[in-house]
Amino acid sequence: MIIVLKQGAKEEEVESIRRLLTSKGIIIQDIVGETTRMMGMAGDTSVISPDSIICYPCVERIMRVQEPYKLAGRKFHPSDSVIEVSGRKIGGGNFAVMAGPCSVESEEQMVSVAREVRAAGAAFLRGGAFKPRTSPYAFKGLGLDGLELLKIAGRETGLPIVTEIMSPEYLDAFAEDVDVIQIGARNMQNFTLLRQVGELKKPVLLKRGLSSTIEELLMAAEHIMAGGSHEVILCERGIRTFETATRNTLDLSAVPVLKAKSHLPVVIDPSHATGSRDLVEPMALAAVAAGCDGLMIEVHGQPESAMCDGAQSITPVMFERLMRGTAKVREALEGFGAR
Ligand code: PEP
Ligand code: MN
Repeated sequence: MIIVLKQGAKEEEVESIRRLLTSKGIIIQDIVGETTRMMGMAGDTSVISPDSIICYPCVERIMRVQEPYKLAGRKFHPSDSVIEVSGRKIGGGNFAVMAGPCSVESEEQMVSVAREVRAAGAAFLRGGAFKPRTSPYAFKGLGLDGLELLKIAGRETGLPIVTEIMSPEYLDAFAEDVDVIQIGARNMQNFTLLRQVGELKKPVLLKRGLSSTIEELLMAAEHIMAGGSHEVILCERGIRTFETATRNTLDLSAVPVLKAKSHLPVVIDPSHATGSRDLVEPMALAAVAAGCDGLMIEVHGQPESAMCDGAQSITPVMFERLMRGTAKVREALEGFGAR
């Protein structure tokens, strides 16, 4: 951290900051320019609060030099994290697709769609048992019964299951039964839930909040990792902008940005990002070209009768075509010599 001092800063105030910092073991390097005077800090600066330093009238501003996410950041973990779940790898050059319906509706629906997405090459089965809905009157998922049906479909196909937890009430059930625990966009900053899920030390799929910055997403990952789980998969699923033509705006630049800042795998969800089945394939292919480590795709046997998110759900036939497309883009990237 660097403290930039105001011109004409009173010497006794500067000294009082110096005493405070040195008493906490921080080493100070004075930087004196022609018009600007600064104090560079070295050591464990986490012991001081920038908010208390900015209260000194002689301080103009405080600049952070290091990122606040030490566990999620690349600085202390330069190589890509590879997350392995029941033999399926994601990250570090391993590409994996998570597919399945928005919500678990019945055993027959789950088992048939699970077979179809597995045949097309999906590595994980997704399905919501607990659904965060904007309206309190909308279908909210089958709850623990839905989790049972998802488990059956997972067992039938050998696919690990990914599903969203909404409340700490179900931590035990998720710890026992779920391979990858999803934190949805709406809970990305539910810090108690993040910590408790982290303490389960299981793989976590963390979705970016609707109006969250990339730094906030990485700080949310940091909360999970500080809890104990080091297997976090980041998911960009579209953010709120002024644009109304799509459900959200897919921030594809988040892929290279996140990969530069973090060692964690990055997955793109073009289904929730666009809200429209016609846009899922083009954005999935673009995401692969941008270098993502995986995709999350909503697939439903009969989108027209889906209980949730039918408009953005693609059919198994469309999914099979999307998977062929992603393989072609990945092949082209290899030929091109990209990462
Ligand atoms: C989901 O994946 O089912 C979901 C609700 O997504 P999001 O949290 O990104 O809206
Ligand atoms: Mn959905």
